[in-house]
Amino acid sequence: MKPHHQCRAFDTPEASGQGADRPTPFALTRLGSWGTVGTRRCHSALRREHRGPIPVADASGPDLATLSFHGEETVTVTVAEPTDEVVLNAVELAITEATIANDRGEALRGVPTMDEAAERCRIAFPRHLAPGAWRLRLVFTGHLNDKLRGFYRSSYKDASGATHLLAATQFEATDARRAFPCWDEPAFKAVFAVTLAIDPALAAVSNTRVVAERREGGKKIVAFADTIKMSTYLVAFVVGELEATDPVRVGAAPVRVWCVPAKLRLAAFGHAIAVASLRFFEEYYGLPYPGDKLDLLAIPDFAAGAMENLGAITFRETALLVDERAASHAEIERVADVVAHENAHMWFGDLVTMSWWNGIWLNEAFATFMEILAVDDWKPEWKRWVTFGVSRAAALVVDGLHSTRPVEYPVRAPRDADAMFDTLTYEKGASVLRMLEQYLGADVFRDGVRDYLRRHAYGNADTRDLWAALGTASRQPIPDVMDGWIFTPGYPLVSARVEGRELVLSQQRFAYLPEAPEGTEPSGEPGQRWRVPVQLRLHAGGTSSVTRLMLSGAEARLPAPERLDAVVVNEGGHGFYRVRYAPELLERLVRQLDDLAPIERFNLVNDTWAVTVAGLGSLTDYLDLTARFRGERDRNVWSVLLASFHALNRIVGPADRPRLAALVRDRVAPAFAALGWTTRPGEDEVTRQLRGDLARALGTLGDNPAVQSEAAERYAAYVASGDDVDPNVLPALITILAHAGDATRFDEFLRRFRAATTPQEEQRYLYALAGFRQPALIGQTLARTLNGEIRTQDAPFVVRTLLTGVRSRELTWEFVKTNWDAMERQYPKHALRRLAEGVIALATPELERDVHAFVRARKIDFGGKTLAQYLEQLRIAVTLRAREGAALSKYLARFG
Ligand SMILES: [Zn+2]
Repeated sequence: MKPHHQCRAFDTPEASGQGADRPTPFALTRLGSWGTVGTRRCHSALRREHRGPIPVADASGPDLATLSFHGEETVTVTVAEPTDEVVLNAVELAITEATIANDRGEALRGVPTMDEAAERCRIAFPRHLAPGAWRLRLVFTGHLNDKLRGFYRSSYKDASGATHLLAATQFEATDARRAFPCWDEPAFKAVFAVTLAIDPALAAVSNTRVVAERREGGKKIVAFADTIKMSTYLVAFVVGELEATDPVRVGAAPVRVWCVPAKLRLAAFGHAIAVASLRFFEEYYGLPYPGDKLDLLAIPDFAAGAMENLGAITFRETALLVDERAASHAEIERVADVVAHENAHMWFGDLVTMSWWNGIWLNEAFATFMEILAVDDWKPEWKRWVTFGVSRAAALVVDGLHSTRPVEYPVRAPRDADAMFDTLTYEKGASVLRMLEQYLGADVFRDGVRDYLRRHAYGNADTRDLWAALGTASRQPIPDVMDGWIFTPGYPLVSARVEGRELVLSQQRFAYLPEAPEGTEPSGEPGQRWRVPVQLRLHAGGTSSVTRLMLSGAEARLPAPERLDAVVVNEGGHGFYRVRYAPELLERLVRQLDDLAPIERFNLVNDTWAVTVAGLGSLTDYLDLTARFRGERDRNVWSVLLASFHALNRIVGPADRPRLAALVRDRVAPAFAALGWTTRPGEDEVTRQLRGDLARALGTLGDNPAVQSEAAERYAAYVASGDDVDPNVLPALITILAHAGDATRFDEFLRRFRAATTPQEEQRYLYALAGFRQPALIGQTLARTLNGEIRTQDAPFVVRTLLTGVRSRELTWEFVKTNWDAMERQYPKHALRRLAEGVIALATPELERDVHAFVRARKIDFGGKTLAQYLEQLRIAVTLRAREGAALSKYLARFG
């Protein structure tokens, strides 16, 4: 799975889906009747359980007016020991018939009992089933829900404004049980043969090729080929008026992109990266693609970013469909990343699957690592491993909390598994895999991965199985190196200083706060140490040399060369740790910034900022440091500089805010002046993106009137005559105009949001609505997050954006408190969790107290340590304000 997320560095909109009205009842007639007729062959021993009986659920027949579906399922099971009960997972399903038969002519009718709380169905038989093979047949009905999980409905409007429905599935982690009764755990792998009975006007897609199609009783009966042996969470079916691109073959498998009509013109780019990355993975893994075809489907309503159903990958529209000429680089890159990520899963996750949900981290971390590898191979000019620094930085933030968690931890209930789809799993996991790959060497790492996949194909495996394969390939004790990064929370701060003729490196755990905040259970042991593969570059006498060492203890010493000019710790920037240089080493480094790679400059600023927030360095020193980067030309370095200015904007007093804007102008304007407003011939995409970023920073955070009026003129020319505006600058113009805009502009952007013709255009205007500063306009946008106008896949993210705006946060927080119940009812569960992340920006002591009171009163819990992490980040911001507020005010005095 790929979560939906927003860009952290700039508070700007990023990929997400469609915005249209909710389905209307009259549209249901288009749908015809839904039916699934599934045969599932499964080989597993049945387990007996003893619990009190519960009344049988109402087993009424299909009701088209309420969007129900009807299903039949046959499961081949092996009874291991005599039993008169079969227990499987099911929820919100009514099982109307349960029979079991064998080849010896025995047949029994069972009595199903639903336990909705346990999400189980217990089928009691009148006598014991003898050991051996049986066929369990179940007939059931269910409701096509609008919660974007299980078997659900999605809707979209055509050009004439008519609403159309389609049906799709989203099963990970534990929602297959909402579509059909099953043993809904990853280790219960089975072969699935799906047949769908649908309206003849519609198309149906499932995991495998269509093997037969016929008409029966006014329905189209579509039968799909047997799948490979796989887990239930990877099963998928999608039914609707879908259109597909022509197939392109990779090996024997045709690859197609599917979407709703009228959007096929946006499919070419996603199709291209799908084909390229599938070929890349066949080569990298040394194994052919395990499916018989690959369909990538854009679903108008989709909770996550995408889902790796084998052979039928589902996406939110912004993660698959894009107009390459009109989209910004970030929007295009998002599509490439997500498509490559899901394709990587076809082997790592689908062919070889984690044994249990504690292995989600490996599944997701690995796919994230492979996504970057594949995109980097496809478009080396995008410098994807450099830009990955931003993702690594996001993980370093969360993992610097006392309320962090180890990457891998025991998962008992599905609720714990849900909390695993977070930054620590994806970004920290991928970062430490990258660190390991760099340490072992890329070829050795790949050989280990190949061995792991071959050994466990069609089966399940654990982290230790991958370590074993990598250990064999590298002849190194992998767990010795990796366990500290995976099974213990946090990461080290490596400090560097010179003592006489020695360079001294020491490590301690990095934390923003000296102690865990009240009510937070501290994680990890005191005196924690890691085995840190450190890569150093020493500059001396005009030359440089790279040294590697394993820092295992508290301290390591190495001889410093004579005439040492500078030391770069974390050379190449792959290490998952922070570096603090002694003042004189820092000064030497800053004097020769040009000798540092962009990722090294990024880490230098990022680590220094973190050390400042942690109270280990002064804010004044940090702000002085930012002045040394006025000439910076790398977009990632700017992203961390601008993120730190945004953080200061959230803690600065209102009187000082214009002075902070002046500081931003002072730092940013020279770099923007050097770039200018217009694209130059031969410019790379990263530079064009930087132009948009810097313009946005000057026009919003820097509140520069000249930039704002220039943006208005350029936008007007673009609207009037279709003037060519660089797609990387256009989103910045829209953001700036919203920031400076009034009610007329708001109405204009609202119209454009409604009339948008690409998912990306729609998102730009949607998030622009959250950028206006007048209370009345903020109120209008908030109202639309609950009245159905903004899709539930997007609304929580819009609220989150509003929570982070300094002009909108208080109003929005009141709105959230007032409407929490409605939000809980309407929004997908994990999106509500992402919405709540916005409280991090409520960085005043009063708001912090109010947040605590609210979560206590409402007993809010998102599973895992999610809430504690948000509250700790809020504590850090309020602490920074208390500690550095006066120094900040004093520093800013020179800008007023
Ligand atoms: Zn994934």
